[in-house]
Amino acid sequence: MSSILRFQIVGEAFKKKPVEVPNREERPSEFFAKYVFTRQKMQKYLPAGVYKKMCDVIDGSAVLDMATADAVAAGMKKWAMELGVTHCTHWFQPLTEGTAEKHDGFVEHDGKGGMVEEFTGKQLVQQEPDASSFPSGGIRSTFEARGYSAWDPASPVFVIGDTLMIPTIFISYTGEALDYKAPLKKALKAVDKAATAVAQYFYPDVKKVISNLGWEQEYFLVDEGLYAARPDLLMTGRTLLGHDSAKNQQMDDHYLGSIPMRVAAFMKDLEIQALELGIPCKTRHNEVAPNQFELAPIYEETNLAVDHNMLIMSLMKRTARKHGFRCLLHEKPFAGINGSGKHCNWSLATDTGILLHGPGKTPLDNLRFVTFIVESLMAVYRHNGLMKASIISATNVHRLGASEAPPAIVSSFLGKTLGELLDHLETCTDDEATLDGRSISLSGKQALSLDIPQIPELWQDDTDRNRTSPFAFTGNRFEFRAVGSQQNCAAAMIVLNTAMAEALTDFKVRVDDLIAQGTDPMKAILRIVREDIKTCKPIRFDGNGYSEAWKQEAARRGLDTETSAPIILDQYLAPDTVEMFTRMKVMRPSELVARNEIKLETYTKKIQIEARIFGDLCMNHIIPTSTRYQSQLIDNVHKTMEIFPAETAERLNRTNLRLIEQMSEHNAFIIENVEQLIEARRVANRIEDERKKAIAYHDTVAPLIEKIRYHVDHLELIVDDELWPLPKYREMLFIR
Ligand code: ADP
Ligand code: MG
Repeated sequence: MSSILRFQIVGEAFKKKPVEVPNREERPSEFFAKYVFTRQKMQKYLPAGVYKKMCDVIDGSAVLDMATADAVAAGMKKWAMELGVTHCTHWFQPLTEGTAEKHDGFVEHDGKGGMVEEFTGKQLVQQEPDASSFPSGGIRSTFEARGYSAWDPASPVFVIGDTLMIPTIFISYTGEALDYKAPLKKALKAVDKAATAVAQYFYPDVKKVISNLGWEQEYFLVDEGLYAARPDLLMTGRTLLGHDSAKNQQMDDHYLGSIPMRVAAFMKDLEIQALELGIPCKTRHNEVAPNQFELAPIYEETNLAVDHNMLIMSLMKRTARKHGFRCLLHEKPFAGINGSGKHCNWSLATDTGILLHGPGKTPLDNLRFVTFIVESLMAVYRHNGLMKASIISATNVHRLGASEAPPAIVSSFLGKTLGELLDHLETCTDDEATLDGRSISLSGKQALSLDIPQIPELWQDDTDRNRTSPFAFTGNRFEFRAVGSQQNCAAAMIVLNTAMAEALTDFKVRVDDLIAQGTDPMKAILRIVREDIKTCKPIRFDGNGYSEAWKQEAARRGLDTETSAPIILDQYLAPDTVEMFTRMKVMRPSELVARNEIKLETYTKKIQIEARIFGDLCMNHIIPTSTRYQSQLIDNVHKTMEIFPAETAERLNRTNLRLIEQMSEHNAFIIENVEQLIEARRVANRIEDERKKAIAYHDTVAPLIEKIRYHVDHLELIVDDELWPLPKYREMLFIR
């Protein structure tokens, strides 16, 4: 691109007006879930018996039979056709970052030369997408390329445009998961079983425990003209070069600032569509970095929340284009300013409405509360390396450890009050640790006891202070903040819920042992809780996660401090991991091997693409531009020598000569290292073993990109702005 074009694009972006979003006559409460086949719609479109059966299937107390499926399909077809639907698709979440779909029309021959619309139970329940091009990590050999998608009745069917979208799981011919949803559903079942058993110590009428997830989706918007002029953004989702803008987020004037008009229109449009699809959008605001925003719904059951997050990410991309933007979901689109995460707020709740991670009003409630908090910490402590593996990626690594993102060591922040409560329980004598509340009190001004009802308010205050903790307690839930903005939160939720299931299962075994020996149940619980508070202590950390001291301290505590993504991924194959997933019946060893391999392959490919684009940009954009400017300077030097006496010319040329020299050095560094980059790629590509290949990319290719970038960004500061071919940070980052 020529620089003239760059100025045109910048000018056009500046002048763009908001896209008009028509005002709706209906209130959000009226159009909420308009395009979702909700229970109310089932009741309307299905015969009473079928409706009742479906409710049981959704609640997990009945199995779907073909006759019911046929009847449901007939009702769905009627509803969908009233909305103008002509096609249906199974919608699934392969182990890439997005979702996948393959549309089939409703039309069938009617046997009389015409066509009829048809949609059967079989089509609803199962499809066989030709799955040979989805990552399978070797599970599905090419001669057996079949993959099956199977309906997940727990997540309601919805309509987008002319298509009926059916949420499904995706598995291989041999039953291994090829997606995120199949293991997620198993993890949720495992945590339900384990948590229900523990909750019943306190509340015998509990029959089911639900895992809640409230995600907060961060994203950037960039004008589409500017986006198109940046091959790196277009191909990799992030800028591989570009010097800091003089002003970025240092004034803190973007966070919760007034939303630019074009963006407000985008948000309004997005929210309407999301609400129509049953996504309970609640919060929208500017984030810390310029052009960065956040959207959060009200939390939902985890399986549904995951589907809704996948759906909103695709809606965001589509809606952004309608408004002349591109939505960047990359974790670090711009160096030097905040990246984007997806905080995952997680808690467990009973079918009787008790929030197990929330403090209660009675001593019994509070023992339950402490139990679930401590066992969550046990889960995270035992699998902190795997938790990190669940969120690590070639893109998220750029975000971790700086600019308000958590560091690459998983620890948990509890806040002062809860921390002191656990410390007290740990250190007090057995006699002091009773349940009447009087003896379990905290030091300090507000002597809190375990049965003080106003605990929640007090806790709210001091839970939110450490914004960079990877796994923070925030009043009635934990917030896993290391999850990346473009990731499927299922990966993290599979690990977290399975680890919790394991912790609670082990907890119950030990408590039951004590009870069998004649210990009073509540005393037995307290004893085991106290034991576990000691065991999981190393995971608790309320200090500065960015400090060098913490890295050393964490290593001393035995936490996982690995920073190399390919090696972090080894955690999927660690003996503890394999045992946990097998015992909790969530994933078999072969599925873990596959997941590990796919993650390694994805890692390699991402860096490979970055390295290629970056090399091209250096050689085709940066070096020619810099050389051109350098020639202009050299020309000027010569002319100065022509018109001035030698001594004067020498004096006048001094600064230009210095610039020319600097540019020569940058140019030489760039050219030589791009050659090295190509060679490093070549060497890495020859490695067969996926793990070794990813390590080679991590150790040799990725660092070269960063090293060269430093020189490119310095050239940007020297070269005449008129010649610079790529939109600069200051031009891309400030939507008007
Ligand atoms: P923040 O202050 O971190 O921005 P918000 O109060 O906006 O957080 O909530 C973030 C998300 O957490 C929302 O999706 C919200 O519904 C969800 N959330 C609130 N309480 C819980 C809970 N007990 N369990 C799970 N998610 C929750
Ligand atoms: Mg939050």
